[in-house]
Amino acid sequence: MKKLIINANVFNGVDNKLIENVSVLIEGNLITKIGEVDTSIADEVIDAKGGTVMPGLCDAHVHITMSDSFNILDTMTTNEIAIRSAKISEDMLMRGFTTVRDVGGNTLGLKNAIETGYATGPRIMPSQAAISQTSGHSDYRQNQAQQRLRNGHEDSPLMKTGTFAVADGRSEVLRAVREQLFNGASQIKIMAGGGASSTFDPLDTLQFTLDEMKAAVEAAEDYGTYVCAHIHTAPAMKRAAEAGVKCFEHATIMDDDIAQIIKDKGIWVVPSYFTSSLIAERKIPLPNEETYRKTERVGKAMLKSAELIKKYDIDTVAFGTDCVGTKDVHATQMNELGAVEKTFDTITALRMATSNCGRLFEMSTYQHPYQEGKLGQIVEGAYADLLIIDGNPLEGVECIAQDETKKVIMKDGVIYKNTL
Ligand SMILES: [Zn+2]
Repeated sequence: MKKLIINANVFNGVDNKLIENVSVLIEGNLITKIGEVDTSIADEVIDAKGGTVMPGLCDAHVHITMSDSFNILDTMTTNEIAIRSAKISEDMLMRGFTTVRDVGGNTLGLKNAIETGYATGPRIMPSQAAISQTSGHSDYRQNQAQQRLRNGHEDSPLMKTGTFAVADGRSEVLRAVREQLFNGASQIKIMAGGGASSTFDPLDTLQFTLDEMKAAVEAAEDYGTYVCAHIHTAPAMKRAAEAGVKCFEHATIMDDDIAQIIKDKGIWVVPSYFTSSLIAERKIPLPNEETYRKTERVGKAMLKSAELIKKYDIDTVAFGTDCVGTKDVHATQMNELGAVEKTFDTITALRMATSNCGRLFEMSTYQHPYQEGKLGQIVEGAYADLLIIDGNPLEGVECIAQDETKKVIMKDGVIYKNTL
């Protein structure tokens, strides 16, 4: 099956200029030619009417299965979580996100259901359970913690569903990492320091010893992939960098020293400006005053870290939204694109949400589930994951954010929306 998009300008995901007035040929699920193509060879012709073909959006920090607060998720059956996750994943695709990296949550079943046509959604790079130390950021046993811990190392519902895992010491960490890889993780997510949204752990706590983190990195690297870490403070980032962690989620309370380390080691950074601002402005309900105080601190620090990212010219930055909550909270996902544009500029926002994510995902090597083509770029040999926008995204991301100007959504060569 050959689809041909004609009368198109192309934003390839990298260059700050459009490739003007070309055709894009799609054979099966891959882009095979960009340029002049004879319409007679196509089974289906799509007239872009001068619109822009751009890569489908990527989001490197989602939690598809986290469709409510942890206290409520703790009471849900796996069925209910799964059904809600299917709705959230479909909405993501219909916003224009064609690939997402899930950094905490049991998404393997959903991914399989999407790929076999039982559900609709983006490509998923799963991390499976986010791994925390006892009393760490994702040790959500604090509901009745004392009763649960009294009888030994007891699970919480969120651990039973494979959302979170708890491991202490080198051998438990090795096993927890290998279990996630066994369950199809593309990369490993650990909690390497205190968190803002959790009630249990102060923000400044260091989580996992250097040796525990090194164990996680060793097990991941032996499987051809890498560790990404939830991390806020500079001391935590220094330890994680030393352990060989390759991607910092949030990376909020940065200083010059750590920015230099990030630059020198080529560590990826996945910040979330919009969600942090929402939380800092107290627009998302949090459990208590202490978590509000923590998130305000994180929200303010995030803008400072953006200045350091600019100052040290760090180009290993990827787009991530970190929406956790009901489908209405997940619906704010697209707002991050505008927030990144405001923090940096239009081309940086566009690259972060397309080709930069593609580069980050390539670090999963043979744990990468999508090896047939490139992701996050419109080039020959890339997956046919694309949007057709009525407008020029290089002049501002608003035309991508609006449903009316987002005319076509295609993933894997299949059209999910066409209002041309
Ligand atoms: Zn997160």
